Amino acid sequence: MIVFKFGGASIKSAEAVKNVGVILRRYPKEKIAIVVSAMGKTTNAMEDISDHYFHKRKKELEKALEERKTFHREIVDELFPDAQHPFHKEFEGIFGDLQERLDKSPTLNYDFDYDQIVPYGEMISTKIISAYLNELGIGNQWIDIRHSLKSNNTFREARIDWPLSTQLTKKNFHFKDTRMYITQGFVASTINDITTTLGREGSDFTAAILAHILKAEHVTIWKDVPGVLNADPKWFDNTVKLEKISYQDAIELAYYGASVIHPKTIKPLQNKNINLYIKSFIYPDEEGTLVGNLTYDKLIPSFIFNMEQVLIRISPRDFSFIAEDSLEIIYGYVYKHGVKINLMQNSAISFQICITNNKRKVRNLIDDLENDFKISYETGLELITIRYFDSSTIDRVMINKELILRQTYKQNIQLVVRDKG
Ligand code: ASP
Ligand code: MG
Repeated sequence: MIVFKFGGASIKSAEAVKNVGVILRRYPKEKIAIVVSAMGKTTNAMEDISDHYFHKRKKELEKALEERKTFHREIVDELFPDAQHPFHKEFEGIFGDLQERLDKSPTLNYDFDYDQIVPYGEMISTKIISAYLNELGIGNQWIDIRHSLKSNNTFREARIDWPLSTQLTKKNFHFKDTRMYITQGFVASTINDITTTLGREGSDFTAAILAHILKAEHVTIWKDVPGVLNADPKWFDNTVKLEKISYQDAIELAYYGASVIHPKTIKPLQNKNINLYIKSFIYPDEEGTLVGNLTYDKLIPSFIFNMEQVLIRISPRDFSFIAEDSLEIIYGYVYKHGVKINLMQNSAISFQICITNNKRKVRNLIDDLENDFKISYETGLELITIRYFDSSTIDRVMINKELILRQTYKQNIQLVVRDKG
């Protein structure tokens, strides 16, 4: 069997959903588990809905819900032009369920409420796609992932219970009376059947989990880009597509902030040696990128740009060394404020961390650090990471930049720079 994942962009309109049908016709015989995300920007919209609900903003809630319903209804109307088609009723039923949920009072737990509301995006998208494909003659079964993927109750960042999920997934995805399942990405549930989510952009991870458990031959993530590029075209001219990347490189690129693959996706695949293809849903004939257990002789440099960085310098007040005890305090604060360190560097009497400038978090972190240390910081910086760097790649990114800090580790270099404007 194989696993496909269709993300938000690949199903953002009726036309896009029709294209999913076109792609699936190319695989008439394969057993496929298809993981689907919410349509277009629906998860963002559902987050707003959940936020209005929790804070009891009635008017805004109604408006946002109506807007989301209209968005989906227009797609459904185009896919099922016959007003008598039974799916219209089913569609109304799902929004009826959501409405019922929103009529209840919110709890005191924001993350819990979030997980009870936001997954409707995936529930709706999978229902639409499953019904549409069946209508087209691409026979498939809709399956509720919550009966297969079990997690703990850390809402919004739930951790998978692997042994239980393995047992249930094998039982449920048996392929006995269908060759195709359509299911939700990003969603799981506790052993008490309370819905949970796996963190934003978690659908890639869902695809990897299913592939791991079901020992898929390969996984394909269908995207609006031709594959994994060596840099984000937003910041960089003349990008090239990487034909092949090793698991190791994929993990490193995701870790340093390349946004193409969700960092959690690689491990379940690497552990079972399952190939991952990143392919364009617009040009399905093209090769895309293969991620797998690979080696290559030509190393193409990749560039990752993290903007809006702040560099914080932490030094003891009394000119003493930065030693293990100070590090423990610093890490304690970093952990407390949920900050991700993009780069760190220490000298005898100072410790520097480069983090993304999420203003509230950074303010709180600095406030705490100032209890124990002397702090100075610089904002408005960029962090450039180059994997497989050489002097010409450094020259290329340093044009019109002032170097603030530089660190190399094996084949990676990280440069904290300021744009000279
Ligand atoms: N729909 C979810 C999100 O946008 C999960 C995903 O797309 O991977 O975060
Ligand atoms: Mg998405």
